Amino acid sequence: MKALLLSEYKKLEMVDVPVPVPAAGEILIRVEACGICGSDVHGYDGSSGRRIPPIVMGHEAAGIVARVGEAVRTFHEGDRVTFDSTVYCGDCEYCRRNEVNLCDRREVLGVSCGDYRRAGAFAEFVSVPARIAYALPENLSFPEAALLEAVSVALHAVSLVEVKPGSTALVVGAGTIGLLIQQALRVAGCSRVFVTDIDRNRLSLSESLGATATLVSGPNFTNEVLRAANGTGVDLAVEAVGNTAAVQSAIGSVRKGGDVVLVGNVSPEVTFPLQKVVSRQITLHGSCASAGEYPRAIELMSKGEIKVKPLISAVRPLSEGLHWFERLYDREAGLMKVVLEPGAQP
Ligand SMILES: [Zn+2]
Ligand SMILES: [Zn+2]
Repeated sequence: MKALLLSEYKKLEMVDVPVPVPAAGEILIRVEACGICGSDVHGYDGSSGRRIPPIVMGHEAAGIVARVGEAVRTFHEGDRVTFDSTVYCGDCEYCRRNEVNLCDRREVLGVSCGDYRRAGAFAEFVSVPARIAYALPENLSFPEAALLEAVSVALHAVSLVEVKPGSTALVVGAGTIGLLIQQALRVAGCSRVFVTDIDRNRLSLSESLGATATLVSGPNFTNEVLRAANGTGVDLAVEAVGNTAAVQSAIGSVRKGGDVVLVGNVSPEVTFPLQKVVSRQITLHGSCASAGEYPRAIELMSKGEIKVKPLISAVRPLSEGLHWFERLYDREAGLMKVVLEPGAQP
């Protein structure tokens, strides 16, 4: 089969590799669509250390079951499916508590990090455990379904805080995850959702998706948020960038006793105002991947309550992968989610 291989840092090439054979409990999926995640772009140049070559990346995908391994009864050849990016073991202490994102033997598809190497979905086929797969409704196209992973991540982040009707929220970062969090906050019952970013194009997309108001991040940013939120600060802020400035914006914007959910993690370390967090009794939550949010994500997308189509900039053949990685790596303005199709002809 054809696969897009990261053979060394900043070198992607189409190669021929054997079609994986599904082990017992696994299903072989013909990949119809796989999105390029920001973490793949950070892996591409080696900066994250999580994509040690050689590795076939790709963990935001959907496709059709091509073959089922032994003992698989939940899926059949021809089923339209998506799957979790986390391959959890299903029987460690965390898995048994349904905290599958914290699984002791957790592996992520398309990641190689020293501890393990797990082939991803930038390929014609990928084999995954049936327990991490979900059937897709007919009304979701494969490119849209490729964003279910990101929608689940957004729903999980919002699930960590109690959203009361009428709550106000701030989303820091209007990338794919931020724009999905914005929508998830609305679904959860927030009456006002503010969104901030440095990129005005992204903010106008955010407005078209229903943000109450958008703010360009900058020196006066916190004051503006406080003004917009009745002078006291928002009830909760969700940070979807992962650097010091963004974390500080989130912390500086919540009211006393408020919550900050941290999703972005580009930087291994940030500095934050400890005394403000302590004296204003702000709760910081780390949010990792998702844990059981797929069915709800599928339902919300299927009903149109969470929209992903406006976030998709391009749906192109897998063979153009290198080109699109370069454009994303160069941070081309206006470019959001790029979805690659292994079955499409150039
Ligand atoms: Zn991702
Ligand atoms: Zn486990």
